[in-house]
Amino acid sequence: MEGNTRGGGHSEALKNYNVGRTLGIGTFGKVRIAEHKHTGHKVAIKILNRRQMRTMEMEEKAKREIKILRLFIHPHIIRLYEVIYTPTDIFVVMEYCKYGELFDCIVEKGRLQEDEARRIFQQIISGVEYCHRNMVAHRDLKPENLLLDSKYNVKLADFGLSNVMHDGHFLKTSCGSPNYAAPEVISGKLYAGPEVDVWSCGVILYALLCGTLPFDDDNIPKLFKKIKGGIYILPSHLSALARDLIPRMLVVDPMKRITIREIREHPWFQNRLPRYLAVPPPDTAQQAKMIDEDTLKEIVNLGYDKDHVCESLCNRLQNEATVAYYLLLDNRFRATSGYLGADYLQSMGRSFNQFTSSESASPSTRQYLPASNDSQGSGLRPYYPVERKWALGLQSRAQPREIMIEVLKALQELNVCWKKNGHYNMKCRWCPGFPQVSDMLDANHSFVDDSTIMDNGDANGRLPAVIKFEIQVCNLTF
Ligand code: ADP
Repeated sequence: MEGNTRGGGHSEALKNYNVGRTLGIGTFGKVRIAEHKHTGHKVAIKILNRRQMRTMEMEEKAKREIKILRLFIHPHIIRLYEVIYTPTDIFVVMEYCKYGELFDCIVEKGRLQEDEARRIFQQIISGVEYCHRNMVAHRDLKPENLLLDSKYNVKLADFGLSNVMHDGHFLKTSCGSPNYAAPEVISGKLYAGPEVDVWSCGVILYALLCGTLPFDDDNIPKLFKKIKGGIYILPSHLSALARDLIPRMLVVDPMKRITIREIREHPWFQNRLPRYLAVPPPDTAQQAKMIDEDTLKEIVNLGYDKDHVCESLCNRLQNEATVAYYLLLDNRFRATSGYLGADYLQSMGRSFNQFTSSESASPSTRQYLPASNDSQGSGLRPYYPVERKWALGLQSRAQPREIMIEVLKALQELNVCWKKNGHYNMKCRWCPGFPQVSDMLDANHSFVDDSTIMDNGDANGRLPAVIKFEIQVCNLTF
């Protein structure tokens, strides 16, 4: 490692690091390897030049990535340890991935053995599932955005295009790389988020097992035609179960595409599934509540105050102590049980026992302390990257059209009026106890404009209480 004076003139901002060689060059600047002085662990530092980002109008993309990664703790999602802002640059300190992009690995090795491809695919799916649980769709999954650490474990990276999924809203931003993009994305249709990640994972699985892309063409209109038609060839060397799973992921109709939950249940996926991936991942709120006792001892030995560390951790603050804590924690698990291994996830996931097998629910060998000021409403920072609104979800295997017909019938009976935003999305207004409201509706119970109900009181001039809500029928994986 070089001394920090050679870290590109950023010595004060990066005083806790010895900055080393350049690992790669991204859209906004270099990514360099560095050593965290207090713990001696390696990190990667993405150096984002603010002026360059502004001229490219990409500051939002970078901010989105930081906002999302800051909250995530998962063995297969790149960890973000700290973000340092200066007037000229933003330094994003993250987990170091020794073996770089999965893309280079596929190019170098060609197609992978089925067991190796499955190991990587299981890790990708568990990372994607964690994103979806936390209401984030990646939207740009491809082997270039999947990094490999020193043990060839996958880390999802590059969340710049990710979008936070609001309950009941469809996204309509065309993004991602065309070869990995789902048909509904390249057609500019509305999509909920999870299903486009499933498609991209299907393309990645194909690439892992075949060493080539399912949809490829130098001519973009021809490429789009292949994607929209779901036209690809399954090589004969694939096993029967892989031949079953890939086509379920590459289904053109997003409503009929397999979900992450169903992928998990598929026998090809289940084969040799490591124990720590057999349990659903904990969400970020649960993680914030757990403090690893051994790591805490280690951090206190480095001279940090125990109470200060505990308080900072459970409030999810970024400071020298929490950066050092997470670096020690991650490297401890990476060294012992394959990074945040089974015992860690199981101990985190005790409250998920309803989902776990009896084997995976066995007691942890490690000690975890509840965070010191942990209680309901303890003032923990909001852990969801989105503002959560009231939402009621019902699952059904019925056809979306049938569901809509039933929903409309029920609304009609209740005298609810609605305005259609699309085939499967509508805004509703209901004035309980105001039967005469139905007089104001057309034959379809649609309301014409927002003022119709508000301006009409009852015979005594009382204004009705109006309940507004939205109905959405969508194909979600969680
Ligand atoms: P882009 O802007 O194209 O998304 P990045 O800035 O994320 O690219 O990264 C540029 C290159 O730096 C990557 O292709 C990869 O080789 C390397 N790199 C990025 N992050 C890491 C990391 N955490 N560990 C090791 N190498 C990395």
